[in-house]
Amino acid sequence: MISIAKPLIGEEEKAAVMEVLGSGQLAQGRRVREFEERFAAWVGARYAVAVSSGTTALHVALLAHDIGVGDEVITTPFSFIASANCVLYTGAAPRFADIEPDYYTIDPAAIERQITPRTRAIIPVHLFGQPCAMDAIAAIAERHGLAIIEDACQAHGALLDDRPLGTWGAACYSFYPTKNMTTGEGGMITTNDPALAERMRVIREHGMRVRYVHETLGYNFRMTDMQAAIGLVQLTRIDEWNERRRRNAALLTARLAGAPGVETPKVRPGATPVFHQYTVAVSDRDRVIASLTEHGVGYGVYYPIPIHKQQVYRERGYDVVLPVAEAASERVLSLPVHPALTETELSQVADAVLASVSEPQFA
Ligand SMILES: *Cc1c(COP(=O)(O)O)cnc(C)c1O
Repeated sequence: MISIAKPLIGEEEKAAVMEVLGSGQLAQGRRVREFEERFAAWVGARYAVAVSSGTTALHVALLAHDIGVGDEVITTPFSFIASANCVLYTGAAPRFADIEPDYYTIDPAAIERQITPRTRAIIPVHLFGQPCAMDAIAAIAERHGLAIIEDACQAHGALLDDRPLGTWGAACYSFYPTKNMTTGEGGMITTNDPALAERMRVIREHGMRVRYVHETLGYNFRMTDMQAAIGLVQLTRIDEWNERRRRNAALLTARLAGAPGVETPKVRPGATPVFHQYTVAVSDRDRVIASLTEHGVGYGVYYPIPIHKQQVYRERGYDVVLPVAEAASERVLSLPVHPALTETELSQVADAVLASVSEPQFA
């Protein structure tokens, strides 16, 4: 079986965790500080704040911008649900802007149409490791005085015109096991704004700057030193892994481009994507899935139901039509692209897709 994702944990990660366990300092401490410093330097941001997950990273970033009841935040309907739920957690209301058909990322023109006097922020999601149209989004944000909180949970190390993510505002990362790098569970927020970074640190730790003096409502969203120790090792390997993902994507595209009923992923001009997923659009998804299953190839459908159609949003009265996202949810199919794949396995992935589109439809 060729799996859709595979966390790469080696001897170094194991040794690093054992060292922390032996040290007696298990909660947020020296390792978390070191991971923050190294991660910030790696992405090219001035500050990084480690938290317990990508979801809490988004939640903290919104809270640090004082977003809450009465406010609106514009995000994409085509993402993991955390990209919108983080807004609900604060008491604010998400508004959904449809996506660009070529890249599955939020459409700047659609953002513009969702702006109201209550809009406070935009959450662009760099889906599948592909940067959003940040120049257009930044121009809209600037014109309307909106904050930008990038959901980079699938885009560790992606660039747009050689500019790192997070430099348009704050960027949130996840270290869940299927992401481009992992700490088990974990998250990080990067920013160049020192005041924002300080507010995020306070919110992460029960609103506390001085021990047992609580100046604001905070949470326990800390990362542990065990997680940070894993992250420090992963950080030494992520560039090589991202390079392999790009190479694997190129191998798949070389085989699949032009196959009937299969659209291979497009890369935005100027973008350096990190292929968190290699996502094709297919005209007969059930048929391709049947072939993948028959050939022992794992796959993923990200995402089969757009966020605005999920029950949690329906019961909150969301009744909008977002045709591009809705069409995408019916056609997308993600194929294995992770760095542990061999060329033989990638070839098997492509063969399984091609078998389903070249066989006669009615035998
Ligand atoms: C994984 C992910 C999240 C949430 O991260 P967790 O660490 O699982 O909480 C948020 N947004 C996107 C786009 C993601 O892929």
